[in-house]
Parts: sequence; C-alpha cells; structure tokens
Amino acid sequence: MKKQFAVIGLGRFGISVSTELYKLGHDVLAIDINEAKVNEIINDSTHSAVGDGTDERTLRNLGITNFDHVIVAIGDDIQASMLCTLLLKDMGIESVWVKAQSYYHHKVLDKLGADKIIHPEHDMGNRIAQHLVSEKVIDYIELSDDFSIVEIAAPPHMDSKTLLDLNIRARFGITILGIKRGKDINISPMADDQIHKDDILIVIGHKNDLKRFEDSH
Ligand code: ATP
Repeated sequence: MKKQFAVIGLGRFGISVSTELYKLGHDVLAIDINEAKVNEIINDSTHSAVGDGTDERTLRNLGITNFDHVIVAIGDDIQASMLCTLLLKDMGIESVWVKAQSYYHHKVLDKLGADKIIHPEHDMGNRIAQHLVSEKVIDYIELSDDFSIVEIAAPPHMDSKTLLDLNIRARFGITILGIKRGKDINISPMADDQIHKDDILIVIGHKNDLKRFEDSH
C-alpha cells in the first residue's frame, strides 16, 4: 500500500532514504534548508521543498501534519535535529525516525519521543563485521542485542534434505523463516520442504545459536 513519507535533511543518508522510498512507489516529500540539496532530489521524490526543519510555520505550510512517517536526517547540526524532532512530536506526527550522531544525541532524542533512532554508520559497521567474520552470512539484521535474522548459504550436506530430516529447530533452537531459490522465495516453509544445494536460508534466532549453526557447516 502506498504510504506518505517526509524526509527532512538531504545529506547522503536522507537522499538515499528518499530515493529508495520513492523507487518503492511511496509518496515522498523531501525537505532541506539548502536549495542545491533540494535540486538533487527533484527527480527522485514526489515533492521537494527548501525549508528549515526547525521552523514550525514552515513545517505546517508544507503540510507535514498530513504525514504519518517523518524521517529526520539532519546530520551535524544536533540542535536543529533535536528541535525538529520536538516540533514533529508536538504536532502529533505518529512515527518520527531520527538519525543520531552520538550517544548523547540518542539519549535526548529518546526523551523527546523519537519513535526510532538510527545510527547508520554504526549499524553498517556491525553488518560489515558480520560479513567479514563469516563468509557464509550473506545478510544480517539485528533485532535486539541477542536476536538476529541472517541469510546464509545452505551447506552442501543439506542438499535434498527436508526441514523435518534436519530438525534444525530442535538441534539449534533457530527457525528457518524462508528459503530463497534463485528469484523465488518460499516463506514459512513446511516440514516436508526440501533444501537444495544453492539455496539461501533466512534464519531467525539467538546470536549464539545462529553462530553454532554457522559453525556446524
Ligand atoms: P550524511 O552522513 O547523511 O551525508 P551528515 O550527517 O553529514 O549527512 P549533514 O550534511 O550535516 O549530515 O546534514 C544533512 C542535511 O541536513 C544537509 O543537507 C543540511 O543542509 C540539512 N539541514 C541542516 N539543518 C537543517 C534544517 N534546520 N532544516 C532542514 N535541513 C537541514
């Protein structure tokens, strides 16, 4: 379903979030105080506007209160990022996601009511570290300090075995959420579904159990 997003601050992060949301078919209002940044996004957003995200009147005039999701991607100017977040939450925006620069910035954003606080460099660093330590892990989503979802290549010894044969949940305490085969994806696979040699498994579980599973290959 088409959703409405506004992105305030068009640095590298803001631009890539806006462009991707737009590519996915959603409505995107992209705002930056700097006209050159706004010009960069004109063809990759539904609307774009030059405006100060810390000015309540500007935000209201841009119709920000009609948006359910606003992403604050103002970077170095921490004060502007906090003021913008405060205004958006005061105006009743339901979901405000904010890019944080530091631990202290994060703490204040939390107090201001930010619904999700993002640390792109930190998150990307974690993800890349996972790739580095395990060549088997193809992608990785951290759900909490303890739980993750990983994409992992099916090891050769699983070829032609069913999930029932492999008994992965009982042996490792992890769950196979999906099996990718070329362009196809089988979500919520059944016990008698077979794994093939070049499949990619999407697995959820505790990090320790996922590690045990990876090491068992
Ligand atoms: P990235 O790492 O995503 O490239 P950054 O963390 O270096 O970004 P900045 O470049 O400092 O972030 O800021 C991101 C954008 O936010 C800039 O394009 C800047 O013009 C814009 N910006 C800064 N203050 C405001 C404001 N008050 N209102 C709207 N946009 C703003």
